[in-house]
Amino acid sequence: AEVKDADINESFSSALLILKNKYKNKAEIVMDLDESIPQIQCFPGQLNQVFVNLVNNALDAMEDEGTITIATKNIDKNKIEIRISDTGSGIPDEVKEKIFDPFFTTKDIGKGTGLGLSISHGIIEKHNGSIEVESEMGVGTTFIIKLPKKLELD
Ligand code: ADP
Ligand code: MG
Repeated sequence: AEVKDADINESFSSALLILKNKYKNKAEIVMDLDESIPQIQCFPGQLNQVFVNLVNNALDAMEDEGTITIATKNIDKNKIEIRISDTGSGIPDEVKEKIFDPFFTTKDIGKGTGLGLSISHGIIEKHNGSIEVESEMGVGTTFIIKLPKKLELD
């Protein structure tokens, strides 16, 4: 993979267009993009994979209809933040501890590999960023990603 300067808002919007057509009868998607975000140095294809994983999980967490909100923010000189929120089931505390573990899934056999969040965590770590989760049962879940604007690889 190659490091590129990428417009995160732009790449998320285009990934979302694809997902939106696939899931338009289930979820309303709200985009709240900070247009002041500069291009960031990243592996765009990998960040796209993280994004698709998180949106897919959000859809799986909704029994019928719901809302997914995607927000980007230029939080300071060096960092941006991406929030992906859903109005799904929420994550119980005892499950929350394990969601980033490889092969951990609460889904039926054939429906989940348990690899999405483990891979996503690895990708964000490789970008020297962080990924955290906030969740409330019956209300929903938010994944919060912070990414540096400049990528320093060792
Ligand atoms: P998979 O989707 O294949 O189960 P993931 O690594 O993507 O694997 O997610 C692991 C587990 O984390 C899921 O099985 C689910 O229990 C939980 N999870 C992830 N995202 C959400 C979400 N948005 N709402 C509720 N639970 C979630
Ligand atoms: Mg998943």
